[in-house]
Amino acid sequence: MDYQVAIVGAGPAGLAAALTLSRSMMHSVVIDSGRPPRNASSPFVASLPGFDKTPPADMREAVRRNILAYPYAEFLEAEVEGIQRMQKGFELSIGEDRKLSAGSILLATGMQDVLPPLEGLNACWGRSIINCPFCHGIEWQNTRWGIYAHRPEVVGAAEIYRNWTNQLTYFLAPEVSPAADRQKRLQQLCASIETDLPTRVHHDNGAITHAETPDERLIELDCLLIYPHQTQTSLVSGLNLALTDAGYVEVDEGFRTSEAGLYAAGDLVYPGHQNTPTGFHMGNMAAATIVMDICFGTLSCFQNAQPILQKTHLGSSRWHSRSHFVSAERSKT
Ligand SMILES: Cc1cc2nc3c(=O)[nH]c(=O)nc-3n(C[C@H](O)[C@H](O)[C@H](O)COP(=O)(O)OP(=O)(O)OC[C@H]3O[C@@H](n4cnc5c(N)ncnc54)[C@H](O)[C@@H]3O)c2cc1C
Repeated sequence: MDYQVAIVGAGPAGLAAALTLSRSMMHSVVIDSGRPPRNASSPFVASLPGFDKTPPADMREAVRRNILAYPYAEFLEAEVEGIQRMQKGFELSIGEDRKLSAGSILLATGMQDVLPPLEGLNACWGRSIINCPFCHGIEWQNTRWGIYAHRPEVVGAAEIYRNWTNQLTYFLAPEVSPAADRQKRLQQLCASIETDLPTRVHHDNGAITHAETPDERLIELDCLLIYPHQTQTSLVSGLNLALTDAGYVEVDEGFRTSEAGLYAAGDLVYPGHQNTPTGFHMGNMAAATIVMDICFGTLSCFQNAQPILQKTHLGSSRWHSRSHFVSAERSKT
């Protein structure tokens, strides 16, 4: 076995897991495609304690340095193209017939945003077109917001956006037709309501100035909020894992997937408050579960079992009793 754990994805979830695994003396490899991450177009990561308003790449690099302070993790820039279950552990295909093996795998591949067909969007995405008020709302407080309402969740969230501004223009997709009482409430909460989505945004070097309606009217805006639909990466879609109705990977409290030995953490399991601190939290929790499953389970499948054997005196029963960790009996490995 090449590694005890392979982590696919070096975003917040994967990095947090790698740090916890390193501090648990588990040999891991962190494989990342090197493609720009989801938030790459954003000038900074906000709301991350200790790193508030830090550029995304700087944040990743800082955590990477933390991980590399220990001799247990390796980083590899490659696309994981497939995962095969072997008699013991897994084999990962990483292109050009390269393969590596690992006892357990943590999928931390994030989600892919499916941006709507809106001319000018790419130049403004992450700058003046934002996806989350908790991350970027304060920079646009009390300015003119457009809300791109192509999904029902957005129609129901006007009260939340009002926390940052009362200058809201809702652009309602025709297929999102709010019930009469909701429509009435929207009229109370919004400065104006448009009955269709904009087709184009006008901007000055990424700073939005107007949204253009299908009948070519220009609505003045400072900021547009789009909460995009998302899809799994092709790797995860091809794994035949149990998914929730909304398409997120189904995991238990310990971030175990429906496939024994395969774990998942980060945006790909969670459609809610997707952000960096949440990714850190999930990666950390998943790593702790992996360590416990290895300690309680099939040590014999690892060539390099020494670090795990050394650490069993740490008192796994104490860990076991912590309420937010699932018990070893529930382990699928
Ligand atoms: C525009 C924008 C701005 C944002 N701003 C903020 C903010 O200010 N504050 C905040 O807290 N959150 C912010 N977020 C949310 C935050 O970026 C995500 O919630 C967080 O990055 C999710 O972390 P993750 O580890 O789950 O996935 P990701 O960060 O998406 O990382 C997944 C990694 O997996 C890699 N990968 C995927 N598939 C493969 C494969 N097959 N092989 C190898 N590697 C693979 C990808 O290349 C990527 O590096 C923002 C999001 C967006 C879209």
